[in-house]
Amino acid sequence: AWAALCPSPKKLLGFDCDAPAAESAALLQRRQAHFARPQKNYYAEPPQIERGWREFLVDVEGRTYLDMVNNVTILGHGHPRLAEAVHRQWQRLNTNSRFHYAAVAEFSERLAALAPDGLDTVFLVNSGSEANDLALRLAWAASDARNMLCLLEGYHGWSVASDAVSTSIADNPRALTTRPDWVHPVMSPNTYRGPFRGPGSTRDYVAAVAPVLEDLDAKGQGLAGFICECVYGNAGGIPLPPGYLQQVYAMVRARGGLCIADEVQVGYGRLGHHFWGFEQQQVVPDIITIAKGMGNGHPLGAVITTRAIADALEKEGYFFSSAGGSPVSCVVGMTVLDIMQDERLQENACVVGDHLKRRLEALGQRFPLVGAVHGMGLYLGLEFVRDRETLVPATEETAAICDRLLQLGVIMQPTGDYLNVLKIKPPLCLSRENADFFVDMLERVLSEGW
Ligand code: PLP
Repeated sequence: AWAALCPSPKKLLGFDCDAPAAESAALLQRRQAHFARPQKNYYAEPPQIERGWREFLVDVEGRTYLDMVNNVTILGHGHPRLAEAVHRQWQRLNTNSRFHYAAVAEFSERLAALAPDGLDTVFLVNSGSEANDLALRLAWAASDARNMLCLLEGYHGWSVASDAVSTSIADNPRALTTRPDWVHPVMSPNTYRGPFRGPGSTRDYVAAVAPVLEDLDAKGQGLAGFICECVYGNAGGIPLPPGYLQQVYAMVRARGGLCIADEVQVGYGRLGHHFWGFEQQQVVPDIITIAKGMGNGHPLGAVITTRAIADALEKEGYFFSSAGGSPVSCVVGMTVLDIMQDERLQENACVVGDHLKRRLEALGQRFPLVGAVHGMGLYLGLEFVRDRETLVPATEETAAICDRLLQLGVIMQPTGDYLNVLKIKPPLCLSRENADFFVDMLERVLSEGW
């Protein structure tokens, strides 16, 4: 019944405004006057969103948009089963996570069951940034070292430590100038626009890691670990070269370092073909961090690791988060998992994602602006270039395409260091029909001439 509420793609084009246009402008003005968060704005006229259901969002003026970019709300918007579960739990209990209650035991058990063998100990927090900060602290404590490797072009959060290992210049412009001395970025193994191209580049990119480690060895400095996403999120969903992590993980572990997989964006079924991003590289990390989709938009994050690594934290002090893993958060997390399973959302990400990727690749045959389609499942990136040989990024064109798509009822956002990649990360319930609607609208925009 819920699915039947969705408008058909044709209806998405019907802009039935029932409020004066000034309302949206006034809201934007109030937001700019009093909302402190310096967020990037990707649109000339950002829509002021009022509600959502499934893969759709509706603005204050009644316009409906297909949400192709929301990498948080994996179940879709306004899921009634989740709303009911949260309502029930709020009425019953929500409290400081210091207390003992059943939900935390049940949810930790379920997360541990999803992780590879041995990763059986769970910390619950409120965001991806917090999860990554905690992962770094765990690695520092367990290794008795401080130095951390990360990949250039990576993004791991805004908090002090997660920001320090975030070197995507689009997200962290200070990354290349003011970096703490414990952070050691290695060459971004970007197989599309890095110095080495294609799946045969593994050896060269692994070789680029060696001097960084040898420098630490020569200085007699230990290595605490290595943090990365196993499919490059902010570069537009570019997979790491085959076998890259197997070799780099071995080099890190040979020096006593721990391997941290940031699964905040890539994990939890979005890849369709795999539940975890690291499966794509056939490795098992020592520490997994998750957030975003696991709470479907509710502030929820987690770190999953071994008991030995978790216990090492005692040397650093102790872990406590007032609301991390609260009764409501745990119920949200468990209900998200139930719904994902019952509605087979990972399978949907696989089937609809493969279909979407094929259709986007077909657009590439017709429009030279399409440089490449990266990623898999519903974790895709469509990279626009002015020239397929030189790969000059089509940054202004990408911004204009996003604005035009918005007018046609599709919410989309640029990503990547050059903001020339369409970030395609819709709710995992995206239907094939609506995936087609998105490609049809994109085709229409590209046909208008670029
Ligand atoms: N790690 C990755 C890969 C992310 O994409 C993000 C957020 O975009 C984070 C960590 C930080 O998560 P949060 O915004 O919940 O702090």
